[in-house]
Amino acid sequence: MEEAAAGRHSGDRSPLAQIDGVWGSLAESTGPGLLAALRLALERREFRLAYQPIVDLRSRRPVGIEALIRWPRMSIGPDVFIPIAERAGLIRDITRQVCRLAPEERITHRIADPVRLSINLSAADARTLETAALLSKLVQALGGPFLNVELTERCLLESERCGPVIRAIRAQGIQVHLDDFGTGYANLQALVELTLDAVKIDHRLTRRVCDSRTAREVVLHLGRLAGTLGLSLTAEGVETEAQAHQLAELGVQRAQGWLFGRPRFIEDCEDH
Ligand code: C2E
Ligand code: CA
Ligand code: CA
Repeated sequence: MEEAAAGRHSGDRSPLAQIDGVWGSLAESTGPGLLAALRLALERREFRLAYQPIVDLRSRRPVGIEALIRWPRMSIGPDVFIPIAERAGLIRDITRQVCRLAPEERITHRIADPVRLSINLSAADARTLETAALLSKLVQALGGPFLNVELTERCLLESERCGPVIRAIRAQGIQVHLDDFGTGYANLQALVELTLDAVKIDHRLTRRVCDSRTAREVVLHLGRLAGTLGLSLTAEGVETEAQAHQLAELGVQRAQGWLFGRPRFIEDCEDH
């Protein structure tokens, strides 16, 4: 029942309740209302995590799971409230809450295959060594080095600041994955200078892979670049078999998307 709420946009309630929710969030989403609501949500621990599988493209077996934050009381997704939290200086508190929630829900124990848990970090997290300490506690709470962190290309624009943080994170056996790869912020110099573990092809590129020769060539070149740098390649936003097939042909190793499973709350994650 939670699939829609845990999915990209929330709300598997009756149409009337949904309209109510939208009006409620519109009212609150104007200016200080939303900020106050965000602060209260942090205080009241209203955020939840939805989990989406990442599979090996050839075997189709799960190799990982990404935790995506949800704010069930509001009908807005993280693509809306995370940038607001970032601008308001609340993102570090949100990251702390994500790091508490993930081990509490014991997601990695719910799945039979050994999988790694991925969490998303923001640029502010990548600038401070406190993040390495926070993640060290998370690794302990998870009971082993089963953790990946995802950083967007934007973070790499400040490679001199995030370099030491990335090194401290990786020194703990945590993998660092570059999110939203191929969306235009790529800083190739930073990619060469910083040692990372994997890159994730953005869903906007995945979407075009079947009907655009240029998109296929870009994926092929990104794959070669990743290979040269010793990074593995994951595609996100895979919705169709045709996309999965095409990506596998182009050498992409792992994939994530509705074809393999939507983000779900813990109570809706089945054991495999
Ligand atoms: P992202 O990290 O690139 O996450 C992938 C987004 O694509 C997620 O949106 C996911 O629900 C959606 N998605 C997955 N498979 C498919 C598919 O097959 N088709 C389509 N159309 N979409 C798919 P979501 O959950 O709304 O998250 C949006 C963004 O919010 C994330 O993008 C990430 O940048 C940010 N975010 C989410 N959780 C957190 C968090 O805990 N901390 C931080 N700092 N950012 C977060
Ligand atoms: Ca991500
Ligand atoms: Ca993305």
